[in-house]
Amino acid sequence: MQQELGLDQPDQPTFDSAGNLIDKTRKRILCFGGGVDSSAMLFKHLLTGCLNIDHVVFSDTGAEKKETYTNVQKFKGFCESQNIPFNIVTHHKENLTEWLLRNGSLPLLPQGASHLCSVKFKAEVIQRFLTATYPDKEFTMLIGIEADEGRRSARFTKPKNDTNQYEYPLQEWGWTRQICLDYLEKMDLKVVKSSCVYCPFMKEDEIREVFKDQDQWNTVKQIEHKFRETSPAKHQRWLDAGKPLIQLKTKNKDGSHKTRAPAGMWKADTWKSGGRLFTSAKIDGKKVSVDEWEEKLKDE
Ligand code: SF4
Repeated sequence: MQQELGLDQPDQPTFDSAGNLIDKTRKRILCFGGGVDSSAMLFKHLLTGCLNIDHVVFSDTGAEKKETYTNVQKFKGFCESQNIPFNIVTHHKENLTEWLLRNGSLPLLPQGASHLCSVKFKAEVIQRFLTATYPDKEFTMLIGIEADEGRRSARFTKPKNDTNQYEYPLQEWGWTRQICLDYLEKMDLKVVKSSCVYCPFMKEDEIREVFKDQDQWNTVKQIEHKFRETSPAKHQRWLDAGKPLIQLKTKNKDGSHKTRAPAGMWKADTWKSGGRLFTSAKIDGKKVSVDEWEEKLKDE
């Protein structure tokens, strides 16, 4: 019957969940990040088959949160039970932490530039793996960017000489972050926001969660301390650039008041112009160093 209807013919057109014709000459790769967006996207596919996925790949920077690693293993198991290949891939030479410590650097670039950390330790690693696994193929990459994150997909940095096509299923479905969270909760899946434990863009509640785990927090401190040791002038510059500094109540050993750069001073944070690790989260409206974060959190 299927044959009569032509349903099993290899050239039968196939459509994705948004009704677009799928290019069958390309391998369809879901880039799994282990967080809320790609987990929701992948789980929907596992239940419905809506994305025609050939392979799932997770690139491990070596600095993901412990909950993320647990989630990755869970989804790897889900995929394998449906015979969907799932690979965890890593940079061939060193992980992101090792790279940052070797260079005494932070995962930040001058404003407007791409996130080198993400390109080098995720996009390029996945591309290298795919090219080695499917030497004669081109790829359609399925990326989990939510419907309320339009700007992020516009900013998405493609590797050099990229011939991939990109699809953003969550945007096609109109799935916002809240919808993804609700969906995962309904499916009884506990998924935390994924990021490196020292990602400069973490919000305060994420920093608090990382702080609860001593191993993770030690890694965070190591990264900023190494940067301060390698580039003391850059690390200091964010303090000095804020002159006239705000006088604090606390005093230095010589009796003079400690000072702090004013709030809002760090809009143009860049690795080049000086900085410290966390750029988004603030204490009392000020961006502060990892040691100052520790001082605050340990007293709570
Ligand atoms: S999570 Fe943050 S630190 Fe990690 S690769 Fe992405 S941008 Fe870089």
